[in-house]
Amino acid sequence: MHDVIIIGAGPAGLTAAFWCDDLGLDTLLLERETDVGGQLKQIYNPIGNYPGLQASDGKEFLEKFTAHTEAGDFDLWTQADIVSADLKAKRIVLRSGEQLQAIAIVVATGVRRRQLGIPGEAEFMGKGIIESGARDRELYGGKDVCVVGGGDSAVENATLLSELCATVTLVHRGKKLRARQELRERLQSNHSVTVFTESVVTRIMGNDRVEAVEVKRREGLKPFQIAVAGVLIRIGVDPNTELFRDQLILDDVGYVTVNHEHETSLSSVFAIGDVANPLAPTISGAAGSGATVAKIIAARLTRS
Ligand code: NAP
Repeated sequence: MHDVIIIGAGPAGLTAAFWCDDLGLDTLLLERETDVGGQLKQIYNPIGNYPGLQASDGKEFLEKFTAHTEAGDFDLWTQADIVSADLKAKRIVLRSGEQLQAIAIVVATGVRRRQLGIPGEAEFMGKGIIESGARDRELYGGKDVCVVGGGDSAVENATLLSELCATVTLVHRGKKLRARQELRERLQSNHSVTVFTESVVTRIMGNDRVEAVEVKRREGLKPFQIAVAGVLIRIGVDPNTELFRDQLILDDVGYVTVNHEHETSLSSVFAIGDVANPLAPTISGAAGSGATVAKIIAARLTRS
């Protein structure tokens, strides 16, 4: 029996674990992947807005963020594949057979990139599906590429790719780009980016690698093809809450609903970081919620 089991070792889960350990709680941090960091591992841009800690990308940020982890005394299990979680009973079963129990559970499972779910998307992973404009643009230098999405990520990546690519076609399903004004303005003055609004990519095509995308504009119009060597998809994120769907109150999209103490609809089950923060996901916010939840749990255990 642990005091706290934290599920997910991104910035929120890691911070909660540091703090729980500092506060003398018996803490187990479970991570599904082989290493910690969550979404930080997918950031290839500089991070400059975390107080006191700057990094050229998520990997460097993570190294600094976890530099003192070894001093901690909490248990960290990576490759911890949860097959069932009875949140009311605070009981978790792993695929490896271990049965775990705690007084409090903290859900810090984050979000994952949304997928289009169209033919070619999975098939061309690593063969023309571009992971990051910042990281991969040199590979696509002088080539034609397509970016799908209309938010900050899509527009920022389209701008980055346009610095080295021959052409960038941005395909957005809505009438207007959702990206913030500063990014939209930079795009408008960029002549190597063509924007198709009210349009969707319906297929990614090629032989060994991506060679074209099929784009459909309004209903009734015939789809057409654009020859491209790469496609970058940034259409938002989905919360990782499938495991808890029938146990916790979630919002329409699937984010966990919490109160001001980060407690979910179940007593002593908390949710922190992006999985409970659809409005303003930030690394600072995730870390802050991790520290807050640790103090709340420690105070309750001391009182009981
Ligand atoms: P987002 O803001 O949620 O935008 C997602 C875009 O994808 C929307 O334009 C949406 O269209 C479109 N979309 C959603 N589902 C789709 C589908 N199935 N098919 C086609 N299009 C679809 O996501 P994001 O751009 O990834 O940004 C996520 C968060 O990170 C935001 O909070 C953002 O501000 C932040 N961010 C910040 C920066 C920065 O500050 N430099 C950079 C990147 C990201 P509709 O508009 O029609 O709904």
